[in-house]
Amino acid sequence: MDLIPATRLPGSSPDEMFPVLTAEQQARVLTHGRIRKVTSGEILVELNQQPTRVFVVVEGKLEALRVSDNREEVFAICGPGMFTGELNLLSGRRALARIRAAEPSELIEIDREALLNLVQTDSGLSDVFLRAYILRRLELIARGIGDLVLIGSSHSLDTFRIKEFLTRNYQPYSYVDLDREADVQDLLDRFHVEITDLPVLICRRNVVLRNPTNEEITDCLGFNEAVDEEHVRDLIVVGAGPAGLAAAVYGASEGLDVLVIESTAPGGQAGASSKIENYLGFPTGISGHDLAGRAYTQAQKFGAQMLIAKDAKGLACDRRPYAVLIGNGQSVPARTVVIASGAQYRRLQLESLSKFEGAGVYYGATHLEAQLCSGEEVIVVGGGNSAGQAAVFLAQTTRRVYMLVRSDGLAKTMSRYLIRRIEETPNIELYTNTEVTALEGTDHVERVTWRNNQTGQTKARNIAHLFSMTGAVPNSAWLGGCVACDQGGFIKTGLDLTTEDLAKAKWPLTRAPYLLETSLPGVFAVGDIRGGNLKRVASAVGEGSIAVSFVHQVLAQ
Ligand SMILES: Cc1cc2nc3c(=O)[nH]c(=O)nc-3n(C[C@H](O)[C@H](O)[C@H](O)COP(=O)(O)OP(=O)(O)OC[C@H]3O[C@@H](n4cnc5c(N)ncnc54)[C@H](O)[C@@H]3O)c2cc1C
Repeated sequence: MDLIPATRLPGSSPDEMFPVLTAEQQARVLTHGRIRKVTSGEILVELNQQPTRVFVVVEGKLEALRVSDNREEVFAICGPGMFTGELNLLSGRRALARIRAAEPSELIEIDREALLNLVQTDSGLSDVFLRAYILRRLELIARGIGDLVLIGSSHSLDTFRIKEFLTRNYQPYSYVDLDREADVQDLLDRFHVEITDLPVLICRRNVVLRNPTNEEITDCLGFNEAVDEEHVRDLIVVGAGPAGLAAAVYGASEGLDVLVIESTAPGGQAGASSKIENYLGFPTGISGHDLAGRAYTQAQKFGAQMLIAKDAKGLACDRRPYAVLIGNGQSVPARTVVIASGAQYRRLQLESLSKFEGAGVYYGATHLEAQLCSGEEVIVVGGGNSAGQAAVFLAQTTRRVYMLVRSDGLAKTMSRYLIRRIEETPNIELYTNTEVTALEGTDHVERVTWRNNQTGQTKARNIAHLFSMTGAVPNSAWLGGCVACDQGGFIKTGLDLTTEDLAKAKWPLTRAPYLLETSLPGVFAVGDIRGGNLKRVASAVGEGSIAVSFVHQVLAQ
């Protein structure tokens, strides 16, 4: 295979990206497709069209072309035994390149549906196709191939938002930084863009989106085009964090017709974590982005569909099948629903916070974090039980714990036993009426400043570890009271539902709710949104997969 010179990704080689199928493998592919002869110059896949077919070259040669400004550039060539396509074939999103016959060729042509069937049933070929498709997508991202151009500034929050949205959705794009590129004015003039319109996204070569919302970007890229919103699903999963992706993988792999609705991008909170070190099977850790990417591909491989940048805005819970409302009067019907919309940690209102999350700012105090700051001074922010537990726990292995509380004491927010323990622990120093005002450091927190909100007095110390334990807010408001929740808004499930909860919800069945079932039959809650959940990636994944076994039972009733 010839790949035209490019940045080489570590760990990938042209042979892995463009493997040559053996005659025996080609024969297996042929059972899912048909032979097609094409002439030189015939276009088989057009840029920006939904890819409906994949081609294996039996004889001849195909070329993949990057197209911009009516100029074509060949960036890859498929010879005998090689096949076309990349991840878009699984998701049904529009093609990022044009595929053309470079000479008269004989091909095996397979429809997208048949390809999905093949990767689900032939594990040998599934490995070859999936590996190649993932590597090709990474290569397209590394080379910025596609026809998306973002023009913005590194000082603009919206530029950051759009970059994050595209990156977390694995969408290749080229970036032009106004602060660095002197000749960018030409480009702006060509598209009649004013400086005040920035950031600007040029999509599909000539659509100019001025500071677009994530939903506008999604519409332009046609992310959701392949999804039929009318069709009654076996299962709708709301939220594509670890819990939702697990439910999608298990549901789809066990033959259910699954649709996932996600308001931003796959991965959830975990997707924002630079390194997850306590997830089983990854001894050196894995970035949340990588973990989410793998799970997302896995869910698509089994046929789960995704609506991206769509908020679930409500649940029609007084009808069967249920329907999830997604705005503009649209709703998607489903026989069962898994709610996996997670929670958001209350974040300190500090400009530099995101730079230090995972690099000195932590949202959990486990043995892992404790090891990182053993023998050092740390700060715990918050006055609730989780902050109290963290302070007492960290005091065992650190030199000193500064506990900063915004209110005037702990009595109203923390259990009495924890307050006593804090008082009895000599290396915990409690500061009430106190708020963090600044974090400083290069790659890691090095210095923290705090202020007394009564006296205005500030104090700064060279401390490298801050535990933000100010609680999490569940993303459950969209449910509009359809399911029973605890006082904090987390959803109650299974045995946590009291007789009163069930009576109030008019639970209609003789059986009790299943393990992760809410007060609505056939509606489940998993992961961080669920009351009593452990707020860990592993527990979210576990619950997502367990819920599917109960979904089967509900569907069978
Ligand atoms: C910075 C950080 C680091 C962390 N590090 C670790 C770690 O190292 N190890 C560990 O075990 N845990 C870690 N956690 C905790 C872990 O990430 C969470 O417990 C886990 O992500 C919960 O998964 P979830 O699927 O339940 O929810 P989430 O990850 O919160 O996902 C919920 C998803 O639902 C979507 N959503 C919300 N509302 C709607 C709606 N109305 N419609 C459609 N979609 C919606 C959101 O956009 C999101 O994608 C970390 C958390 C943070 C914030």
